[in-house]
Amino acid sequence: MFNVEDVRRDFPILDTEVYPGVPLVYLDSAASSQKPTSVIAAMDDYYIHYHANIHRGVHRLSELATSAYELARQKVARFINAPTTEEVVFVGNATEAFNLVAYSWGRTNIGPGDEILLTEMEHHANIVPWQILAREKGATIRYLPIRDDGTLLVERLDEFLNKRTRLFSFTGVSNVLGTINPVTELVEAAHAVGALAMVDAAQTAPHMSIDVQALNCDFLAFSSHKMCGPTGIGVLYGKRELLEAMPPFLGGGDMIRRVTLEGFTTNDLPWKFEAGTPRIAEAIGLGAAVDYLNHLGIDAVHAHEQTITQYALESLSEVPGLSLLGPPGSLHGGLASFTLGGVHPHDIAEVLDKKGIAIRAGHHCAMPLHQKLGIPASARASFYVHTTFEEVDQLTAALHHTRSVFRLN
Ligand code: PMP
Repeated sequence: MFNVEDVRRDFPILDTEVYPGVPLVYLDSAASSQKPTSVIAAMDDYYIHYHANIHRGVHRLSELATSAYELARQKVARFINAPTTEEVVFVGNATEAFNLVAYSWGRTNIGPGDEILLTEMEHHANIVPWQILAREKGATIRYLPIRDDGTLLVERLDEFLNKRTRLFSFTGVSNVLGTINPVTELVEAAHAVGALAMVDAAQTAPHMSIDVQALNCDFLAFSSHKMCGPTGIGVLYGKRELLEAMPPFLGGGDMIRRVTLEGFTTNDLPWKFEAGTPRIAEAIGLGAAVDYLNHLGIDAVHAHEQTITQYALESLSEVPGLSLLGPPGSLHGGLASFTLGGVHPHDIAEVLDKKGIAIRAGHHCAMPLHQKLGIPASARASFYVHTTFEEVDQLTAALHHTRSVFRLN
């Protein structure tokens, strides 16, 4: 188990005073995590010492940059236990990964009357690309419901999966409820009716180990910026035979083998899906983020978050008028979403901000989920490797203070 005080020294931003004399309490890692020095240094090193375009130069710097970019891919492949680096495509973020699959796989495999199954707890990134596709192709989208406690109604899967279902795309961990879903079971259920399974791992990859071979998922998507890496890069894992059969998403340089005035042939995987100059510095930063999480140990990261989250759920439940969203106990990932009496979450976030506490307020890009819950918005505190019990205490105290500001009885 790592020492949280040591970990905190790895994140220079944690020394920030957000207002004079008010230190930062960063409880918004689920929106985007902070970056350890090693990630920042890896990107600096690239820009200072060996920046050049990759894959096409024969000069020394280009070779160095190409190796670093491809080494980052190897690190990511190992991190999720992908069988080969060909199945690890660098994209802009998780959102782009969904759009890539919806555009490339979806437009060749989805037709009128086909069904795509999602769940009621999805992020817009795993809803809107399928809605665009379904609208264009005359397909139907269905949503597996959730229970009141924020878990999926898995026992009703039979009603929602059938021989028309082409794809079941669902989140590993809900960014609002914190629910940790039974991914293997959901993948198996999709495969049992001949559908593919895509996993939204945006809130999973930063927090717990992923083994795409054990999960047997067909596609899996996540973003670097939530797992200690830079913004601007994400990952699409896809099974090789699927990626091979899919047409390119974006056209241009790098994704081709040969171009004539009449047409083109595509490059090998994974470059077929990486058109144009890629996110070189960002890939190197993501590789360093993977190194950092491996150095802490991803199981230790998960264990730390579980301890902090249990503590936070218990502490927050004692704030009068506060309603926690999502399931209790070990089914709950590293965040706590809540409402507080009739106070608008934006007002809560503003009061907390004055105390240096950064939380997220709003619909968290999950409007359908909030509609289902019958609330316009919620407040969310999210935890990561550097979160301490003291910070949770500060959050709880600030919420008691919020109650007095808004004169809640
Ligand atoms: N899915 C989930 C569950 C998320 O939490 C997020 C980010 N909030 C995304 C997808 C989209 O990630 P990005 O904005 O980095 O593409």
